[in-house]
Amino acid sequence: MRKNLILWIELLFALVSIWVLTSVNQRPEIANIALRVYVLVMIGVTGALVLLFRHYQSRHSSVDIARICETVCNLDVPALIWTNDLNTLYTNQAMDEILGIGESEDPGDSAMLLSTLFHSMGISPRSAAEELNGRIYRSTLLDFDRNKRYISWSTSLLKQNSKASLYFTIGFETTELIKAKHSLTAYAKSLAASESRYALSMRLAGIGILLCESVHDVFYVSEEAKEFLGVDKNEITFNEFRQKLHPEDRFLFDEYLNKMRSSQKDNTLSKPQTLEFRIRTAVGRPYVWYSYHYQENLTNATGGPIIGGALIDISSEKLKDATIERLAFMDDITDIANRNKLIQDGEETYRICKKTGSSCWVIVLDIDRFHIINDSLGYEKGDKYLRDFAHILCKYAAPSGMVARLSADNFAMLVHDYGDEELPLRTIEQIRIDMANLSTGDSATTALSCSAAFARIPSDGSSFKEAMEHAEFTLAMGRGQLSYLMGYNAALHQELVNKSEMEKELANAIALKQLQLYYQPKVDLRTGRTMGAEALIRWVKPDGTMVSPNLFIPIAEQTGLISEISHFVLHEACAQNALWQKIQFNPIVISINFTSEDFYQKNVCETIQDVLIRTGLQPKWLELELTERLALGDVNYTIQQMNALRELGVLLAMDDFGTGYSSLSYIQLLPLTLLKLDRSFIVKIETDTVAREIVSAVIKIAKSMGIETIAEGVEDEGQAEILRSLGCDYVQGYLYGRPMTALDFQKRLEAESNH
Ligand code: C2E
Ligand code: MG
Ligand code: MG
Repeated sequence: MRKNLILWIELLFALVSIWVLTSVNQRPEIANIALRVYVLVMIGVTGALVLLFRHYQSRHSSVDIARICETVCNLDVPALIWTNDLNTLYTNQAMDEILGIGESEDPGDSAMLLSTLFHSMGISPRSAAEELNGRIYRSTLLDFDRNKRYISWSTSLLKQNSKASLYFTIGFETTELIKAKHSLTAYAKSLAASESRYALSMRLAGIGILLCESVHDVFYVSEEAKEFLGVDKNEITFNEFRQKLHPEDRFLFDEYLNKMRSSQKDNTLSKPQTLEFRIRTAVGRPYVWYSYHYQENLTNATGGPIIGGALIDISSEKLKDATIERLAFMDDITDIANRNKLIQDGEETYRICKKTGSSCWVIVLDIDRFHIINDSLGYEKGDKYLRDFAHILCKYAAPSGMVARLSADNFAMLVHDYGDEELPLRTIEQIRIDMANLSTGDSATTALSCSAAFARIPSDGSSFKEAMEHAEFTLAMGRGQLSYLMGYNAALHQELVNKSEMEKELANAIALKQLQLYYQPKVDLRTGRTMGAEALIRWVKPDGTMVSPNLFIPIAEQTGLISEISHFVLHEACAQNALWQKIQFNPIVISINFTSEDFYQKNVCETIQDVLIRTGLQPKWLELELTERLALGDVNYTIQQMNALRELGVLLAMDDFGTGYSSLSYIQLLPLTLLKLDRSFIVKIETDTVAREIVSAVIKIAKSMGIETIAEGVEDEGQAEILRSLGCDYVQGYLYGRPMTALDFQKRLEAESNH
């Protein structure tokens, strides 16, 4: 419409211009008139155009306001158009909701609604226009559903005339934002509260936190950790941290860092691990033990790797550990290591020696007659002596060795030999000199010395413990001797071990009745008849092998098993002889071998008598073969004991005569009935005239004293002939019969009795 009007004016203006131009060429008077008309028309047209423009302008602006109202209506944010006299108000639906106006409702008084709105902004309605224009105001309103709405309002002037000004106000709802802010504040508050609770728990639990993000060489430290480390800042570099560690623990920390760095590379989450180290807050301050419980490659909130852990003060636990270790590994009296500690450290030394090819010595020592100090000076002085002795040992074990008290007055030293074979000997020598200088305040103890034995590590045992046991074993071999000193000898040890193994086997053998008696005939040289038998014991193993009595009788003597064996022999031999007599063979004398241990038994007479009664054998058919070792004992007691046995009626023979210590004159004192000339004379009797002379003399002297003689080990007729010529009564040897089973012997007796 507006466009058409302007077109019409422009067309009219063009026609008039054409007419004027054509008139100018034809008639000048008309041209004059036309020019005037043209001017007048132009003035009229211009006036009309001005009027038209004004009209157009006023029409055009009213259309814009309508368009704005339309736009406002379509806005989904609250908006309103209003006049400063508060009489006109246009609101959109979003605004209606805020002002609490329902869809079908009459909006009501615009002035009242605007006042409500301006009051919510904290502005007086009268000055609203002035204050709001070009500014942003916030308000809090309750909407139709009585929900709190937070809105920021922006106002601008749309139109102004003399009567009133038109304003446009648009609201931007910040309700969600404010709510978010509120919840954020609440969250921040709860976070702060939780953080302070967390910090409090850490403080109460005494836990410091160390965290290290990514590859930065820095630990972020919690409040508690700051105190542990003596730092003010919230972070500490690895290097600063390392400086605060005990020098011995720094290596541990370096290892930890290396591990941590490599684990960061492969990004693997490690299992929680624990390190223990000592930290001090500053130089000059004492070190405190901490346990660092950490895990590698945790992830932080942004997904980056984080390494962290908790530091806990464990000094009291360490103190307890030290006390426990002290109790477990230290000797109370001397304050040096005990056996457990020595073995623990010794095994480590053994391992190092093996690895490096070096060697050292374990020396075990025993203070000779230490009980004298306790007995004469009391335990307090005794303890002091032990401490002094330990002190001497420490002097010679230092710097790289160690000393331990094993028990009572038994000590051990571990000394490095540095290739010195004589070191143990020289060390003991020095110790003895120092001991001689130890004063106990008692003259009786000034002469105290020590016995010692030593073994080499690693060659003298498959472990430290074994090497030390070997040294202790060697020391035990010298028990009873003063100032004994001996190095471990594997061959000697093996011999003793075999003995002890045999001892165990022998004890079993007795229980399992593997011991049997064999009988060797004794023959009367004049008649050639069997007049007796020597019972000789045999150990027949289940596999049939026979162990010689020369091997096991000495062991039985050392271990005390001999009395059990002797009792068996006594009973078995008497019973056997009684049985043969019952069968009515010619009665024979049965001989059994008696050791000096058997002989010196207090109730030996009673035992023998008891066996004789039980078996029904008359005493005169039992002969005890004694050895010359009896001569080593108390002569009077020996004679007394022999007399008692003789009174019982049993015969007494001196076995192996000529090999031992006793002289013929000594023999004359003893109530013997038979002398058994040792086989060593008989072997030489044919060739060695001296041997023959001795045998001859012995036989004569024995005869003069009423003692009969028997020769052992007769193996050939020549020997027998000489013995007969020298007047020997009886013979025993392979020539007449080897030791045989009871059954074989019985057959022999049978055969003889049939002659
Ligand atoms: P012994 O009492 O001097 O016994 C004689 C040993 O000489 C026996 O050895 C016997 O077999 C051996 N013998 C006998 N005639 C000959 C011979 O012509 N030539 C050779 N080469 N040897 C002959 P055996 O039985 O081995 O006994 C050895 C020793 O063991 C005995 O020496 C005795 O001291 C001891 N013994 C044997 N049985 C017992 C026993 O029951 N108790 C005790 N305490 N010792 C016993
Ligand atoms: Mg004998
Ligand atoms: Mg003999």
